Amino acid sequence: MAVIVQKYGGTSVGDADRIRAVARRVAVTRLAGNDVVVVVSAMGHTTDQFVELSRQVSPNDHPREMDMLLTAGERISMALLAMAIRDLGVEAVSLTGSQAGILTSMVHGRAEIEEVRAFRVKEHLDKGHVVIVAGFQGVSAVNKEITTLGRGGSDATAVAIASYLQADACEIYTDVDGVFTADPRVVPEARKLDEVSFDEMGEMAAAGAGVLMLRSVELGRRWGVPLHVRSSFHDGEGTWVREAVGGPPALVGIAHDPDQALVGLTGGGGPAAVVEALEAAGVAAETVGTGPEGVAAAVARDQAAAAVAALAAAAGPATVLLEEEVGKVSVVGAGLRDRPGAAAEVAGALGRGGIEVRLTATTPLRVSCLVPSPRLDEAVRLLHREFFSYGSEEGR
Ligand code: ADP
Ligand code: ASP
Ligand code: MG
Repeated sequence: MAVIVQKYGGTSVGDADRIRAVARRVAVTRLAGNDVVVVVSAMGHTTDQFVELSRQVSPNDHPREMDMLLTAGERISMALLAMAIRDLGVEAVSLTGSQAGILTSMVHGRAEIEEVRAFRVKEHLDKGHVVIVAGFQGVSAVNKEITTLGRGGSDATAVAIASYLQADACEIYTDVDGVFTADPRVVPEARKLDEVSFDEMGEMAAAGAGVLMLRSVELGRRWGVPLHVRSSFHDGEGTWVREAVGGPPALVGIAHDPDQALVGLTGGGGPAAVVEALEAAGVAAETVGTGPEGVAAAVARDQAAAAVAALAAAAGPATVLLEEEVGKVSVVGAGLRDRPGAAAEVAGALGRGGIEVRLTATTPLRVSCLVPSPRLDEAVRLLHREFFSYGSEEGR
């Protein structure tokens, strides 16, 4: 008998009909003789709505209470799904992350999974029950406080449970058919990939491809859990994310991240000063470049205020730069290693399209450019045409 972990994202459990459709798929999998654990996200945009509601109630930071609030979203879907599965004559039980033994660090809002003690999940499976686990949440082993794993964190819950149970499959059901060469909502002609390596998927996720949470890809690699990203709306094969993929190194896709900001110093202070100030403030700045205006770095937009404060404190006579209307577009793939001129190719293509490049950065698997926000989607489509045109030699 196989052990199968299925994770369903927010759209897939977005309303009563969809919850019943998920229940049918789960029941079919169970009735075929498999042990089934289902990890669920909050319904639709519930998490965003809770965040918005909290802002209406209070302008202040309340990390503990935010986690109490946000974990309620997954509780709602786990209970409703358990009801729908039981109505199909299949015994099902829902468990919160804490009940399922997801033990985390003590950091509200972005806790790390440190250990999985999913005894209760195993006990229910042994009794033939389908187990529904609330994604995105856990409990601190140190002080028993409830934590959340960061946005998109249900993917990480699924990988953790699959690893603990040594599951035969970890299926990530979502609202697209798999991992594409670009976000199919921005690039309609993007192609579905049959497979992608953990390294390349990690790079896509880090660069903004939200189809999988970055942490879940890292955990999948660390614990050796291959992931099958697929549609919850039909039975077609999706994309396998695994250790090694066949074929020569190629380009995998174009990723984009609309929520970036450019910060820096002009009129004094070198790259080291900028990096040190940001590091000391705990702001991740992966892209640091020197241009005519001074030294600039790309940071996540929600860290822009912290970055500016850190730079202002370290600026001396220099002036702090801040531009919030920027996004990042990245070309990703192991094939970049064989193209030493790739950064120039990417910047050149954007330049020919009349799109100003504010900053460029490279890693062995990625070339990223910061561009003005209003041109970001166009930049994604342009680079997809340039590197992934139908019939071209590029891509898989
Ligand atoms: P879920 O709620 O199922 O976790 P997400 O919204 O987190 O779903 O992830 C799915 C979304 O990821 C898709 O709707 C798509 O717009 C977006 N996405 C971004 N980049 C890609 C990509 N390269 N391939 C597929 N989907 C992508
Ligand atoms: N509900 C959470 C979020 O919206 C976690 C998840 O969907 O994976 O980020
Ligand atoms: Mg997601």
